[in-house]
Amino acid sequence: MTTDEAFQRLAAAHQSHRFAQGYIFAGPVQTSGANLAVRILQVLFCDSGDGCGRCVNCNKIEQRTHPDVLWVEPQKRSRIISIDQIRKLQVRMAQTSLEGGWKCAVLVGADRLGPEASNAFLKTLEEPTPNTVFLLLSENPQLMLTTIRSRCQMISLDGSTHLPEAVERELLDILLDPDVAAVQAARGRFTGSFALSEALTGMLKQIKDGIENQEADRSDSDDVESDVIKARASVRYREIRSGIMRSMGLWYRDIMVLACHGDEASVHYQDFLPQIRALAARSNVANSVRRVRVVEHMHEQMERNLQEGVVFDSGVPLLQIA
Ligand SMILES: [Zn+2]
Repeated sequence: MTTDEAFQRLAAAHQSHRFAQGYIFAGPVQTSGANLAVRILQVLFCDSGDGCGRCVNCNKIEQRTHPDVLWVEPQKRSRIISIDQIRKLQVRMAQTSLEGGWKCAVLVGADRLGPEASNAFLKTLEEPTPNTVFLLLSENPQLMLTTIRSRCQMISLDGSTHLPEAVERELLDILLDPDVAAVQAARGRFTGSFALSEALTGMLKQIKDGIENQEADRSDSDDVESDVIKARASVRYREIRSGIMRSMGLWYRDIMVLACHGDEASVHYQDFLPQIRALAARSNVANSVRRVRVVEHMHEQMERNLQEGVVFDSGVPLLQIA
């Protein structure tokens, strides 16, 4: 749903005293997730009770300086939310609120809780105190403990293919202009469908390397077995790869919708309407439907552990728009 729709739903829940203790905002963390958190917190803390956006409390929420709202972000170096951070959170949430109302913690990137921190946070959720709210912002809620997820209400925000924004952006650049993307990445030995296949394979390789390095860094401190690190990296990588394939599916679905003269309002990548229109104009109905199937088929093949390069080399030529 859009941020506005999510906001209306939360505001209504608050008004009828049905506000849950925990919410997961699944979607882009720094943009829609953080915006939604600020807007709904303003309603909870506003002097005039409606989230006016102008009173002292609304301002403090916006500036993230409100004493009863704790923002927890992953640490810079390790990129995880540590057990120490969760212990501090527990202390804060056990105190009565400084201003006598709600107490709230916002976890920015809640899937970045380390194992110990996850379990400690779960305890906090299991022993709720009145008037406490937890907002868990995450692009990859599927990486959170099931037991944490089951204690929260999930709000799926638009733009959530559960893919980091930068990755999605890069993917769209590649889909829009594979030749340029391949050249930029210094992989530009090919053009046409070879370029697209190369660019996609190259992007996945970069992401995989990045995740493996991150997981190795992140495990420096907590003495983890190397196959555990590998397994973690592999889970995260496969999630992102799935997100990429879903995004690709949406892209070709958008082209299909317009090639079939469907409703422009149902196009997922609204920011790219002109480009999608142009591609749809060059495409007939049968081919545009086939492309969507090809992407789904490539996704299935990868899930069955076929090598990505091989999958792309055989599938991508079928995606060509003449
Ligand atoms: Zn206000």
